[in-house]
Amino acid sequence: MSARTSSDSIFSLSQLISASHVLGSDPSLVLRGGGNCSVKGVWTLPDQTQVEALYVKGSGHDLGTLTTDGLTPLRFEQVRGYLSSPLVSQDSLMDALLAARLDPSFPAPSVESLVHAAWPRPFVLHTHADVVQGLTDTASAAEIAHQVWGERALFLPYATPGLPLGLAVVEAFSSQPHTQILIVESHGVFTAGDSADEALDLHRWVITQAAKFIDSLDVPPLKLRSPHELSPNTSYQIAQLRQNLSEIAGEPLILRHYPNSPVGRLGEDSHLLAAMKRGPATPDHVTWVGPGVIEVGSVGQYPEKYREYVARQATRTGLETQPFAGFPRAIVLPEIGLVTAGRQGEEADATREICEHTLEVVRIAEALGGYRPAPEEHVFDLEYWRPQREKYFRRERSGPDAGRVVLVTGAASGIGHACAKAFLDRGASVIGWDLSPAVVDAFASPNWLGQVVNVTNVDRQQEALKEAVAHFGGLDVFVPAAGIFPSAEDLSELRLDAWQRTLDINTTAAVAGLKLCHPYLRHAVDGGYVCAIASKNVAAPGYGAAAYSASKAALTQVLRVAALEWAGDGIRVNMVHPDAVFDTALWTPDLLAKRAEHYGLTVDQYKRRNLLHAEITSQRVGELTATMCSQVFSCTTGAGVPIDGGNERVI
Ligand SMILES: [Zn+2]
Repeated sequence: MSARTSSDSIFSLSQLISASHVLGSDPSLVLRGGGNCSVKGVWTLPDQTQVEALYVKGSGHDLGTLTTDGLTPLRFEQVRGYLSSPLVSQDSLMDALLAARLDPSFPAPSVESLVHAAWPRPFVLHTHADVVQGLTDTASAAEIAHQVWGERALFLPYATPGLPLGLAVVEAFSSQPHTQILIVESHGVFTAGDSADEALDLHRWVITQAAKFIDSLDVPPLKLRSPHELSPNTSYQIAQLRQNLSEIAGEPLILRHYPNSPVGRLGEDSHLLAAMKRGPATPDHVTWVGPGVIEVGSVGQYPEKYREYVARQATRTGLETQPFAGFPRAIVLPEIGLVTAGRQGEEADATREICEHTLEVVRIAEALGGYRPAPEEHVFDLEYWRPQREKYFRRERSGPDAGRVVLVTGAASGIGHACAKAFLDRGASVIGWDLSPAVVDAFASPNWLGQVVNVTNVDRQQEALKEAVAHFGGLDVFVPAAGIFPSAEDLSELRLDAWQRTLDINTTAAVAGLKLCHPYLRHAVDGGYVCAIASKNVAAPGYGAAAYSASKAALTQVLRVAALEWAGDGIRVNMVHPDAVFDTALWTPDLLAKRAEHYGLTVDQYKRRNLLHAEITSQRVGELTATMCSQVFSCTTGAGVPIDGGNERVI
């Protein structure tokens, strides 16, 4: 809370925030960042003079979780002036709004700030309610609006958010200055009041009236097929689809599979599915679903269709532009159901939500004579409007591995954990397997999927992989890191059960993982990568480490065969050979101290017993592994890279 806000305004802001939380908690009213709200108050300048302020929701904030940090104070008179200034255009509007901020540390204000400024009431609330879109995405929207809300509401034909909508509101208010409810065709509802509660009550009234009207229509319920089953075959199809979509997008994408989503259970011949393709329920959704909302079956025609749409609209507007982000975001495959795509998992989630709400809007509109969304030119104007494009690109890629999918075994601790962290730091989406349940919450990132998997159970590996592919869409990288180091035993005293167990985990489980991952790695974006955690012991075995050394040597030999056999599939298979990594669970401080003493060294000297006197940490091994699964190693396969600080026996 800024010290520049007066106590009256603080009271108003908290009222507004409470009302916005009520609206924001209902996904049938607003989705992810949609809708907005405002209140008019005062702001104290550094010279202690007070100016009128418009506090409006900033971009990147949700109504449901809004705080005062998300209410950007704008100089009210300046924003109102934009409505009559010949200097402000739709393209320069966002710069003008940014310039009107009374404190530049607040986020960019909503593009709908002009509507809020135009309204001569202190509190304004705005949502994109499904029911309002359903009733107005129709050929007779004006008559229906009149029938449902009567004289209390003012109906406005669709106008692009920003300057066009602001000017349309000013014009409408000139004849009806006392309006408190505004219904905007194919968009949503604005309500205004002298208190936040009054605006909220009006909002509730609008929704209730709409719901009553829809109830009276007897809209037929959705006829849905039973949910789709997950099978290895569906998983391979999803991985293949991800490869195709990523090729269209020119970058790796994350896919989500929603076997239960009603959108994917309508049946290919459903008239509702066909109707959805007419366009987004409101043009603002174009960023999430594209101009065609949904593809059914093959995606091969999409690039051509998208190019034609851009060319058609560019001719109309005279805009010279390169098509951007032109990949299908929601696809219905007959045997699989709904799959959505995005540059991050969260984008794919948002697309699913918007598709399902679009279906609800379409269901209502079809019962009212047919779904007729805003025409294509409005969709294009919003998709290619500079602030919208900047908003899209602001959600920029989070690192060199954004969109790539990595599987790491043994990811709850030690080297496996460090590998998972290195990939997450590079922006990858990471699946982590471990016997320990701690793996589930090992990282608090939306790009993390921790699964409890005993790698010696091949059925469980297969099941987990299917779930992971439904969550991220495929696999680009496999890092078998799970392993054990049994307590040192001389060969003459070797227990065969310990020997067998070491081979089961370090070798056989990794071989099973390689086999299961292969069909997915074949469909990796830009080729698949395997990087196994082997050991210095392969080249230089240690005393008392027969089982461990043999298990890692066998794994190494398997990987060399994989490098031969899988090169034709574009899969690189390499390995790292770490030594003396002491920051893992195997090495307690007590054990370290004892071993150091055994050699007559300090712990630090013992840790750095190598030619470079380097301390080898899990983090270093993780970073090397991630690098070996990047373009840097795209021309290398079948190689092992030591990470041991230099060892005379290896060199
Ligand atoms: Zn809106």
